[in-house]
Amino acid sequence: MQQIVRAVAMAFNNLPRPHRVMLGSLTVVTLAVAVWRPYVYHPSEMPPVVQNTVELDNDGQHILLPEASEPIDQPAPEPEDDTPADEIDKDVPGASDTHDYVVSTGDTLSSILNQYGIDMADLSQLVKIDKDLRNLRVGQQISWVLTEDGRLQRLSWELSRRETRTYDRVGNSFKLSSELQKGAWENQVLTGSVKGSFVSSARKTGLSSNEIGSIIKALQWQMDFRKLHAGDKFSVLMSREILNGKSEQSQLLGVRLRSGGKDYYAIRADDGKFYDRSGSGLARGFMRFPMVKQFRVSSNFNPRRLNPVTGRVAPHRGVDFAMPIGTPVLSVGDGEVIVAKRSGGAGNYVTIRHGRQYMTRYMHMKKLLVKPGQKVKRGDRVGLSGNTGRSTGPHLHYEVWVNNQAVNPLMVKLPRTEGLTGKERANYLAQVKVVIPQLKLNQSQ
Ligand SMILES: [Zn+2]
Repeated sequence: MQQIVRAVAMAFNNLPRPHRVMLGSLTVVTLAVAVWRPYVYHPSEMPPVVQNTVELDNDGQHILLPEASEPIDQPAPEPEDDTPADEIDKDVPGASDTHDYVVSTGDTLSSILNQYGIDMADLSQLVKIDKDLRNLRVGQQISWVLTEDGRLQRLSWELSRRETRTYDRVGNSFKLSSELQKGAWENQVLTGSVKGSFVSSARKTGLSSNEIGSIIKALQWQMDFRKLHAGDKFSVLMSREILNGKSEQSQLLGVRLRSGGKDYYAIRADDGKFYDRSGSGLARGFMRFPMVKQFRVSSNFNPRRLNPVTGRVAPHRGVDFAMPIGTPVLSVGDGEVIVAKRSGGAGNYVTIRHGRQYMTRYMHMKKLLVKPGQKVKRGDRVGLSGNTGRSTGPHLHYEVWVNNQAVNPLMVKLPRTEGLTGKERANYLAQVKVVIPQLKLNQSQ
């Protein structure tokens, strides 16, 4: 498999420049199509979207109209109050401060950063410094860190397993540094069984915190790691770059976890995502909107909104839909209710956790229809909309969080149902045949 990946990467690099430019322009054309039809994901039951409501307010100076929204200094509950950090969040670094993204088809740097509300001025600075950023490739990883006021602090781009480029903010621009790795890559199988927590058991087998984090992410849609039992077994195939006898960096190729007599698998495809043994996607799709009908957006997502009175940043972490009191509010995806209560600012609100990375919040409702701990399916009613808490008119305030960071609910790329098809699926199934026999469980433990 590595040979295939490397061969493809080399083939790209060896292309004459006009060809590379052409490939780059294809991405731009794809993006143009995506802009023209702004949503990549169309749940079949949803009507087509209204396009004029999705503009991201980039000037940061937007003054909120007092109608059907919240007062600008709304003290909404912090998500930390909603999700007490569990052992996994504590022990696996990068869960909250670094944001990771794997490039997929049609992505460009601007389409990726736009959904996180990152300033387009920063983006043009980045591209000025490094034009190669216009040519992201599927499967590459991008990660970034934001400042407290939501500006880009640092961006890292993993071009290949050998090269990582980092862009650090210096004033209004960025400084580029590049790192080349020259170790030898080898595959290693690590097996263990659960005693105590998964994180501590995985550490005992020699897995690093980052590696454990990638395992948890890969299996998040199948497995709640807090509910594993003592004696559950796991086997992990890592590709590691060994330099001076030490693992410099690594990539998870596949994982098998046996819990309650059942085997769960997640195996990496060439697009950098994880699929099950048959090539099906592991995440169930999300709906774009938490309601059946469409309603006007009365206030957009804006992480750098300024309070015109105090001059301080008062982020609007969600999107407001003006809607009549009593409108059913739906969970956008499968998940578990972690909060359903009344609070001062948010009124009656619900927080739902979907897998480990995604969380959605629904505020100002008149009536709650779910309880904490309850499992919900996509499309289930979580409450009836209202005007409770600090609200200046009947509306629903809706938030989407990815890796503990609020993102623009109208722009974010949400998990899709589709699995692999055609040639990608055939390649994947060939890989599965190689990977699965290596994922043996240790019977003696
Ligand atoms: Zn709002």
